[in-house]
Formats: sequence, C-alpha cells, structure tokens
Amino acid sequence: TIVTRFAPSPTGFLHIGGARTALFNWLFARHHGGKFLLRIEDTDKARSTDAAIAAILDGMRWLGLDWDGHEYYQSQFWSRHAEVAHRLLERGHAYRCYMTQEELAAQREAAQKERRPFRIHSPWRDRDDGPADQPYVVRLKAPQDGETTIEDKVQGRVAVQNAEIDDFVLLRSDGTPTYMLAVVVDDHDMGVTHVIRGDDHLNNAFRQMAIVRAMDWPVPTYAHVPLIHGPDGAKLSKRHGALGVDSYRDDMGYLPEAVGNYLLRLGWGHGDDEIIARDQAIQWFDLDHVGKSPSRFDFKKLENLNGHYIREADDERLAELIAPRIGAALTPDQRALLVRAMPELKARAKTLIELAEGAKFLFDARPLAMEPAAGELLTPENRALLKAAHGALSTLDSWDHDAVENCIRQVAEQADVKLGKLAQPLRAALTGRTTSPGIFDVLALLGQGESLNRIEDQIL
Ligand code: GLU
Repeated sequence: TIVTRFAPSPTGFLHIGGARTALFNWLFARHHGGKFLLRIEDTDKARSTDAAIAAILDGMRWLGLDWDGHEYYQSQFWSRHAEVAHRLLERGHAYRCYMTQEELAAQREAAQKERRPFRIHSPWRDRDDGPADQPYVVRLKAPQDGETTIEDKVQGRVAVQNAEIDDFVLLRSDGTPTYMLAVVVDDHDMGVTHVIRGDDHLNNAFRQMAIVRAMDWPVPTYAHVPLIHGPDGAKLSKRHGALGVDSYRDDMGYLPEAVGNYLLRLGWGHGDDEIIARDQAIQWFDLDHVGKSPSRFDFKKLENLNGHYIREADDERLAELIAPRIGAALTPDQRALLVRAMPELKARAKTLIELAEGAKFLFDARPLAMEPAAGELLTPENRALLKAAHGALSTLDSWDHDAVENCIRQVAEQADVKLGKLAQPLRAALTGRTTSPGIFDVLALLGQGESLNRIEDQIL
C-alpha cells in the first residue's frame, strides 16, 4: 500500500508552502487508499518549539488533513538512527572521521583559493585506526564513481555525478543524527513509499539515496514539487503570502476549504477546473499533473475562491465564525438576527473580515456613527424625503420585504424622485454607510421599531 508523510521541522509555523506539501501528500494517500503519516522533525532541539508544533497540528486540522495513527516525533528515534549509522560502519559504508575543525577549515580555504567547490577529503575514509579517546563524526563513504539517477515523478529524470556527492556527516560528534540520516531511517522504518516535498530538497535526495543504497533498502518514489513563488516570479515573500496558515485564517479571514482548493490548484491542475471540492480532489489527484515550473501566488484568485465558498457555506457556521469579529458578545436574539441576515450579507463578501464588516450595522448602537460619505447624503432636501419615508413606514402594520418595498416605492413616487434618490439617504440613516445589502432587506432585518428610531435620529 501507498504510504506518504509530511515531515515539517517545528522551527516556525505551518507556512503556506508546507501546507501545500501536506495537502499533496494527503491527497495522494487518500486517492490510493493508502496512509498519510505526520512526522515532526524536531531534531534541531534548539530551534524547535512547542508553540510551533501546536501551530502545525492546528493548521493541519483546520485544513482537514487528518493523519493516520498518532504523530511521530523524530527525536524519539535517535537511538535507532545511531544504530543504522553503526550498521553502515560495520558494512564498510561509513567511517569514523577524526578531522579537526582546523583541518576542515584548511581544506575549505584551499578549495576557495583554487576556486573549486569544496568537497571534503578525509584521511580517515579508508582507515579505522583512529585514536580511541578522540571525538569523531560518522561520515558516509559516498560512492565516488558513476552517477546517481532519480526518476522523479515531477522533475523527470535527474542525475548527478557521484563525484559531486561528498562524504557527509551521519552522526555528529555528540552522537546525534543529522537530518540526512534521520529522514532516510524514518522513511524506511515507517514504510514510506512516496516522498513528496518541495524541490528545495532535490539535492538532498541524492545524498539520501546514497544511504538507502548502502543499506540495501528499497528506494522510495520521489516527487519534488516546485516551490511557490510570488506574483512577480521571485521567491515568495511575506508580503506576497509567505505566512503561516493561521494568518490566512485569523488575519485574512479565509475559509479552510478555500485555502485548500487554492493550494491544490497552485501547482496541480485538472483541465480548467477552478472549484474542486475535497471529494473530487481525492478522486482526481495524481502526481502526473503537478506542474514542473513554480506557480505564482495570486491573492485575487484565492479571494474569489473564498467568496465562492462563503456563498456556499452554512449560515449558522458563518455566524459562528464572524461573531467574535463583530465586537461585543451577541445576545441570542442578535445571533438569530445575524443568521437571518446571512443570505444577504454573504452574497457580497470575499473574506470573513468583509462579512463581519458588512454585518456590523445590524448591531451598531444609536445614534449611529456616520461614515463621512454617508453623512454627506443627509442634506436638508434628503431629510425631507426621510421624513416622508418615516411617516409612511410608521403606518405599516405588517413588516416584511414586500411590505416595506411597496411603501418606499410609493413614497418615492409621491415625492416624484427615483427610487435610488430615496434609497441612498435611507441607507445612510439605517446603516451609517453607503454600502449595505438591498435597502428593503435592511429594513426587513432591522425591524420596524429599530428602523424608525434610526431614521428619527437623522431627521430630528
Ligand atoms: N523536515 C524537512 C523540512 O521541513 C522536510 C524533510 C523531508 O520532507 O524530507 O524541510
């Protein structure tokens, strides 16, 4: 069966590129009825934090990327990593290297002077008579001839000359494993069949393959996905979206299904389809249609998708999501009003921030604070219109969309003005704003008492 994994280093939050890597691994596993594992690569103890781990798990849950079994922590397997390093020593595929910092520095300097790439040449590669009481690192005895080829599912066939692969470190002098060793051992032990990750790891893959080969383990299938770039084609910067998924949720007000859909389309395609529900994505996802060139982050597209998913979302859920953004705790009645207003509100919002902004007028305290542009609409002439509207509206004994519409249309007709001419100041008086849902909906939602009071505030 197919086994994939997401292996974040908890040195920062779950950033948007990592989330896409997780999504692709998750989809590939679900598509094939396989397993998706989560391994927290916390080997860099100094830089790993609990807050980052929590943010990663939280972000994964938010995006609906459930992992099979419990999450793994790489640091739990240190003794196993060391064991493999020792197996490599026994098999003659690794050696204890006693080179000092000074010796290393001298080699590095020499390479620099001769303008050739630095590659370590350890005198210990073919010796095992090192001083028993001296510290050492364990290095892989990397193959020096021939080439290593990867049939990458995304990049195609990529090869390097083995002469370019140095004798990299497997175990540090304090006995802790390097990332290079730990990843290979864990992937093998967890039965990972497909390594899907950012193409910034492609160079590592050649080194990792050297360990796999030295252990006679099966080589996993690699798929190195191009990184996400900014709209200008440069490396993704903070301004262009290189943020944690928590920012997309909290600061920017995106729904997880929109972010998931957007990330899916960012680097993978199914014809011209833009809106792809999760079930559909599971059915369609494959590695063959992951693009070979970096995709560009486009907030406009994400926003449009978000608008779509907001319009599709359940009204109660949306009310739940935006209630904390509206301000003071809502009473049960206010909450019910918010839900009732949602069909109108959500038609015009692309983010939860906009949705909350659009809902605020429902709960504003009287007298309303007027936006400047709304205040300017309250001219003497318009106030006379509002007075007429107030008079007519107060006589209504049923209050719903159609009743207020008939009433307002009559007022406009009698005053011999176009409906919009009346609707503008009316909107200003009722919402303090120049944009809102349709004016009849606003009246219907606010109710007769509150509507009349708000108009009165502006005409007395
Ligand atoms: N821990 C590595 C990272 O966060 C990923 C390792 C891998 O996917 O092989 O970049």
